[in-house]
Amino acid sequence: MMLQRKNKIREGKAKILYETDKKDTIIQYFKDDATAFNALKKGQIKEKGVVNNAVSSWIFSYLEKNNIPTHFLEKLSDREMVVRKLDIIPVEIVVRNKATGSITKRLGIPKGTPFNPPLLEYFYKSDELGDPLIGETHISYFKWATPEELSEIGEMTFEVNSLLQGVFNEIGLELIDFKLEYGRCQDGALLLADEFTPDGCRLWDRKTGEPMDKDRFRQDLGGVEEAYQEVYQRLKKFFESANR
Ligand code: C5P
Repeated sequence: MMLQRKNKIREGKAKILYETDKKDTIIQYFKDDATAFNALKKGQIKEKGVVNNAVSSWIFSYLEKNNIPTHFLEKLSDREMVVRKLDIIPVEIVVRNKATGSITKRLGIPKGTPFNPPLLEYFYKSDELGDPLIGETHISYFKWATPEELSEIGEMTFEVNSLLQGVFNEIGLELIDFKLEYGRCQDGALLLADEFTPDGCRLWDRKTGEPMDKDRFRQDLGGVEEAYQEVYQRLKKFFESANR
């Protein structure tokens, strides 16, 4: 019998989480709502929920196949996926392959500066505080994660970066930066959580240099829906053609 959706656990900016009738699993429902600048800017991107659910499902399955443990269990419908219930670590892990966004403003690094090796940054997950930048010392001092967990998170994150740079390169997109979240399951194992979608990464078209992600919404560049659809179509071809 199909998994039943139960009570709403929490509604976030882009997703709603529901309990299910199966212990230790939850449903992530992807909305069309879009926010930027800590929700100061609000809007909708038509069919974003459908695109993001598909994109995240493909990417998490691909990562699983490549030995990255994730919370993803199955895609349930156009806008819903079933994931493992985790104890989420309240830290956002950002990887940067090239400078853009907050680092250009915060540290004055010119846009487009390559980071080789990639740069890892941590932000405290708090809407009220606007997700402030933190260091490793805060993470261990406040016991958000142990030093061992943090080192495992670092290794997994660099591996995700290599795998996904490969995927996006093949479909003519450059993976500029992205945000990941992790959580622990019952036995304490670390799993990649949340989502991987054009809401939480930056993708530049390799021919034109045009952004193909939420920066189009943040910066009012137009063609927002079209960019999400284009990323969806290219990934669909990549994942469905060779059964990857
Ligand atoms: O804004 P900033 O340049 O720090 O963002 C780095 C990357 O992390 C971008 O891809 C952005 O979409 C993502 N991000 C996110 N959620 C946040 C902050 C950043 O997905 N709360």
